[in-house]
Amino acid sequence: MKKLIALIGLALVAGAGPAAAQNLVITNARILDGTGTVIERGAVVVRDGKIASVSAGNPASVPDARVIDARGMTVMPGFIDAHRHPIQGNAAEWLEKEAADQMRGYLEAGFTTVLSAITPDEGLELRRRTESGAIKGPRIFAARIIPLARAGGGGRGNAGRRGAAPAAAPSTQGAQGAAPTAPPAPAAGRGDPARFDTSRPPLRPTQPAGAIAAEDTINAVDAAAKAGFDYIKTVITVTPGGPETETLRLIVNEGKKRNIPTVTHAVTVVDALAAVDAGTAVLVHTPHIGRLDEDAAAVQKIAKAGIPMTSTLAIFIPHFSPDNTPLFRDRLPFPWDTVSSAGQGPVNARLLWEAGLSYGYGTDTSWPPKESLRDELRALSLVFSPKDIVTILTRNAARSALKQDQLGTLEPGKLADIVIINGDPLSNIYDVLNVVMTVKGGVVLSDKTTPAAATRR
Ligand SMILES: [Zn+2]
Repeated sequence: MKKLIALIGLALVAGAGPAAAQNLVITNARILDGTGTVIERGAVVVRDGKIASVSAGNPASVPDARVIDARGMTVMPGFIDAHRHPIQGNAAEWLEKEAADQMRGYLEAGFTTVLSAITPDEGLELRRRTESGAIKGPRIFAARIIPLARAGGGGRGNAGRRGAAPAAAPSTQGAQGAAPTAPPAPAAGRGDPARFDTSRPPLRPTQPAGAIAAEDTINAVDAAAKAGFDYIKTVITVTPGGPETETLRLIVNEGKKRNIPTVTHAVTVVDALAAVDAGTAVLVHTPHIGRLDEDAAAVQKIAKAGIPMTSTLAIFIPHFSPDNTPLFRDRLPFPWDTVSSAGQGPVNARLLWEAGLSYGYGTDTSWPPKESLRDELRALSLVFSPKDIVTILTRNAARSALKQDQLGTLEPGKLADIVIINGDPLSNIYDVLNVVMTVKGGVVLSDKTTPAAATRR
């Protein structure tokens, strides 16, 4: 007994360690299981961190289990953001000073899994700490970027209307902490690469980019696998006669040998088709440049490849500050010369969905998770129903993270990642913003179900 008490004391001191999954029974729940099935009043039983059963009615009794009465609230799979860049700025400093707070923000917003696309090595430490419970946070899966061509290659024929293009820096890493009011004008050619996207005409290269030696690419794949990354991330902008598609194919195939899948950023229809040709495992953006409504063959080719896609639609809709300033994800004024993507992205997404593509949730923004969710819901709601969006946020996002065997639905055998929501997302999808409890692997990590808990901190 003394030994047991000592062990408990140790666990408390260590900040919960690998928090022991408690057996749980969530009763009186309106269950949306992520597959499209609704159980109006039922129970979810969790044993050893996994879903043991999901059924109508309440079970007679489950020994050694904590009972959580959902009181008719909605119970869903934990949300999955299959495209974020959680680590911002100086990674080592971020890990020590900001990680714990920001990870709590994901849990409070209902996120139990986050795919970190383009991750510094500190991302592996973040993954370790959230796994061990040293930091309370979502599951982290980390991607390391490998280039498809030499930086600085693929020159343009004409000066772009947005000024000089930046180096081929992929996606996000938006500036954090800039004042949301009275933002300064971004300097031409600098800042968030999505402002000056080199795959968007007229910045698109007209000359072939330089090739990287195959041996160097193979070594990079090997190093990513050995370091323990979950994926390789690539960014494709095909240059005329350039090496991008071939290099991507090489990465995909070498990755397969080492059991590390390749995910690809392609934001134009042309580049998405090239990524499909090269055999990428995931398309981490909706192509929002180029019209799939004018290209039925491209729709069929992308959708029939069986490659999941991640939404990230809200990058190109304005985020309105409290003083009604339309902002981009870098917290600077919205670049109106990109706004066609706000329409074309959802149009292309729906056409791909109609053709059978698996479409999952991802944001690729640096807004806090709940604000990112609100923005993404606005974009998704243009072309998807609340029922569709529940699937996009859960089962399909698990596919976009390539973790559908463990995550994304409330089905026996899957990891017990569960949220309780005050409201009915099938009537009003914005009710997914009202998360009152988040459970990861059977461990309650965020709980606002009691007034005391709600007013704590
Ligand atoms: Zn990204």
